[in-house]
Amino acid sequence: MDNKGKGLNTICTHVGELEDTKYKGAVSPLYMSTSYAFDDVDVKRYPRYFNTPNQDGLCKKIAALEHAESALIFGSGMAAVSTALLAFLRAGDHIVLQQTLYGGTYNLVTEEFDKYGISYSFTKGWEPKDFENEIRENTKVLYIETPSNPLLTITDIEGVAAIAKKHGIVSMIDNTFASPVNQNPIDFGIDVVIHSATKYMGGHSDICAGAVASTKEHMHRIFHLAKNFGGSLSDYTVWLLERSIKTMGLRVRAQNENALAMARYLDSHADIDAVYYPGLTIHKDHELAKRQMKGFGGMLSFELKPYLDASLFQKSLKMIKSSMSLAGVESTVLSPTQTSHALMSAEVRAEQGIKDGLIRFSVGIEEPEDLIADIEYAIKKVKKETKTTV
Ligand code: PLP
Repeated sequence: MDNKGKGLNTICTHVGELEDTKYKGAVSPLYMSTSYAFDDVDVKRYPRYFNTPNQDGLCKKIAALEHAESALIFGSGMAAVSTALLAFLRAGDHIVLQQTLYGGTYNLVTEEFDKYGISYSFTKGWEPKDFENEIRENTKVLYIETPSNPLLTITDIEGVAAIAKKHGIVSMIDNTFASPVNQNPIDFGIDVVIHSATKYMGGHSDICAGAVASTKEHMHRIFHLAKNFGGSLSDYTVWLLERSIKTMGLRVRAQNENALAMARYLDSHADIDAVYYPGLTIHKDHELAKRQMKGFGGMLSFELKPYLDASLFQKSLKMIKSSMSLAGVESTVLSPTQTSHALMSAEVRAEQGIKDGLIRFSVGIEEPEDLIADIEYAIKKVKKETKTTV
């Protein structure tokens, strides 16, 4: 189906679907074949060439969702990040990255790039001028993540994209936390959009995948590296991801509403020290978030007052699961210090404002009253067990 003029949920449901010409089934047939004809065909298909029928269909859907000309899907978010970056960087090049980034991206750069002779700088802040300050003659890529993990900082997408254009540099964004439902960076001038599709695109904590969307020209370059690196997905996972994205608009909009309700509740709670959520008017970049986001997302972070043990609090929750990853329909919490940012030194974490008691909250689609009841129960339990009288 052509996506021109179509609304979000229509694109989620229909763009890229494969027609079942033989049996007229309502959903895309699944083509598991790893071997296709090479003679008398327009396209030589093979899973690692990223062009099986199911891959082709899903890539069209993701490109339409991100207002891009083209897209590719990968075996994980990190396969998408590493392939996109290395497609535009070679020995002798330099990259400027935002200071706060997903821990895995930070590890990729700091542990691997020296081996390839690629140098890197992290910005000192989040303002466009902080990116411009780090640009050198050999800078080839500017890389941002907004909202960022785990403190939900907001970067001015249009501002950074304009600086990249001015210097003839490729701009890239990790758009995972927002999802294409809440933010379309290409509309603000960004060149390459990356997702961990393990998160909101999958949405049920049962798929590991990644996606990259951009112009046909940029995607051609990324494809050439991708086929050599070989990080393609199994077609069964591709099919499942297509099914999951059908409900992404509904899920994410429900998560936006729940997260705002939870952020307001936590912000007014006497036992909570700080809440980080771009939808709150007290968030330092709320106005910027309003300009570039359609919804504020399902992720927030908070700090308990120091008299409450954060680890005991997480263990005391009955419904909200203490578990890694994010963006599922079920609510989860985690400690960034123990998980996503565990490999960072304590110093770097402190510089970035990631305290040991910080709790990252991925808000699901449950009823907000039930989420609040679970948090109230856990706080009371921690107070009782630690004999806190506040
Ligand atoms: N980007 C962000 C913002 C993430 O949160 C994650 C994973 O948590 C990734 C990238 C990496 O994705 P994956 O785990 O699918 O490789």
